[in-house]
Amino acid sequence: MPPALTRRLEPGDTIGILGGGQLGRMLSMAAARLGLKAHIFSPDKESPAFDVASSHTIADFDDEAALAHFADQVDVVTYEFENVPARTAAVLAEHGPVRPGPAALAACQDRLVEKEFLSSLGIKTAIYAGVDDAGALARAVAQIGRPAILKTRRFGYDGKGQLLIREGSDLATGFRSLGGVPSILEGVVAFSKEVSVVAARGTDGSFTAYDVCENIHVNHILSVSRAPAHITPDCAAEAVACTQRIADALDYVGVIAVELFVTEETRPGTPMRQTIRVNEIAPRVHNSGHWTLDGAVTSQFEQHIRAIAGWPLGATDRHGASVEMRNLIGDDVRAWPEILAEPGACLHLYGKTEARPGRKMGHVTRIIPRET
Ligand code: AMP
Repeated sequence: MPPALTRRLEPGDTIGILGGGQLGRMLSMAAARLGLKAHIFSPDKESPAFDVASSHTIADFDDEAALAHFADQVDVVTYEFENVPARTAAVLAEHGPVRPGPAALAACQDRLVEKEFLSSLGIKTAIYAGVDDAGALARAVAQIGRPAILKTRRFGYDGKGQLLIREGSDLATGFRSLGGVPSILEGVVAFSKEVSVVAARGTDGSFTAYDVCENIHVNHILSVSRAPAHITPDCAAEAVACTQRIADALDYVGVIAVELFVTEETRPGTPMRQTIRVNEIAPRVHNSGHWTLDGAVTSQFEQHIRAIAGWPLGATDRHGASVEMRNLIGDDVRAWPEILAEPGACLHLYGKTEARPGRKMGHVTRIIPRET
């Protein structure tokens, strides 16, 4: 299909997905439910998404011949991870639509570019400074103070590529320990909660958001998400409005997730006020949106498929009074028989054979009913 032709997909059409992990797997299942096919492109021959997709290609993301062949067999391309190489996206875009588009990838792959983009929209983040060498780190620490967090600009996830700079930390050693690569120093935000907004924007600019959810991390990995977050209505509205501003600025199509810190300001004589700072943008479906599979009218996976297919977005209403999603990480997955026996628990297993520590093996959702 020529790139200029941005037609609405029809049932029977094929969604191309870069990446074959659990997100690609759950996207494929949502596509199938809507009568669409999924074709997974992944370098990993053990990809969990292969089990549930109509077709797959095993090739590296820089294999341009394989990418071109893949692109010719699908009607739209999307991805389950943000580190899609720019060249990969460009090759695919020559053949058809890639959604979300290149602006979203460019803004979210590099923490410094991301912070500058957010600042250009007037959205608050942690204070930050770019750090290209040990000298720049010393200057950034003098400006931001300690403690501060040094993060690599690219390829960080689940706390990887991060270092806490405390009083007494040796800066040159710290910079080298992260590989001596371009980095960013961030001030530590004294947050009271971490929350995220999972939202979607359609090809027509329509926008819908789920309830803001509250996230608990253990060892830098998401452990539990609860919706709705216990934050003030004003704070929730601000979080959703800033997500919409981000999506509009990127002319975004698909599901987007924005991770935020909530901070509390108390001034004598005035009520406590919650404000937000954006930590990160994920240009994809997100772990903190898994609760929507069982807990919302339209899941985030279906919503993403609807958006990239040029279809109307679905309702985001929540079922129940609240919903809790708990990740099954590493050996947690051994509890699957007990979870199955628990009334009301919704179990999702990702089809991964080896339960390594820190590996997301599945999740369980529990819906707390409304009182009648
Ligand atoms: P990230 O990889 O940026 O999402 O960071 C992983 C986790 O580290 C976050 O979920 C926070 O718990 C913590 N963190 C990251 N950046 C900051 C910051 N600037 N201030 C306080 N905590 C942070």
